[in-house]
Amino acid sequence: MSEARIDRLLAAALHQAIADLLPMRLEFYESYLRPRGWREDAVNLAPISAVLSFLRHEDGDTHDAVMVQAAAYASTWWMAGQPWHVRTGGRLLPRWMRLRQVGTLAKRHFEASYRGTKVKVHVRRGRLDLEIRGSIFCSSREQARDAQCRYYLAFAEALVAQDAWPHRGTLVACRALGGECCVVRLEAQDQ
Ligand SMILES: [Zn+2]
Repeated sequence: MSEARIDRLLAAALHQAIADLLPMRLEFYESYLRPRGWREDAVNLAPISAVLSFLRHEDGDTHDAVMVQAAAYASTWWMAGQPWHVRTGGRLLPRWMRLRQVGTLAKRHFEASYRGTKVKVHVRRGRLDLEIRGSIFCSSREQARDAQCRYYLAFAEALVAQDAWPHRGTLVACRALGGECCVVRLEAQDQ
């Protein structure tokens, strides 16, 4: 059995976000994130886990800022590969249908990023819940004070950023805080 693999898009998005926000530390991180290896479809899990752990030990809000930036890149690249009707869904679809579409898009990206991740999509009225099992961001044995799957929330938020309705995003639960799974919630706000 080969080592667990991480999709190249997630690795490339993390690399680009670190280059933007931590340019002085890029060389250090590149010893784990090796762009040359990305000609393959996937990179190994172990170096990515190491990068995530180092990011958690950076100062202040650096970890969350890198996750938000990486998710912004990933969502742009992910959407670029979608057909026209999906890319314009936010302006054309009824609210519940759009939330279901966003849920499906996020589920596909999260599950493609790492085979051990499984996502269930729940849509009720103006609310989308993504129930994420096997998050690669939240398996750390280190004591966590905050939810660690900021990337998942930021990715979902980025998908709806251009929509006709504003949304409020929250991390309702996180495995790193003792939850059974991680839950990302998007709620459509009435204007
Ligand atoms: Zn989590």
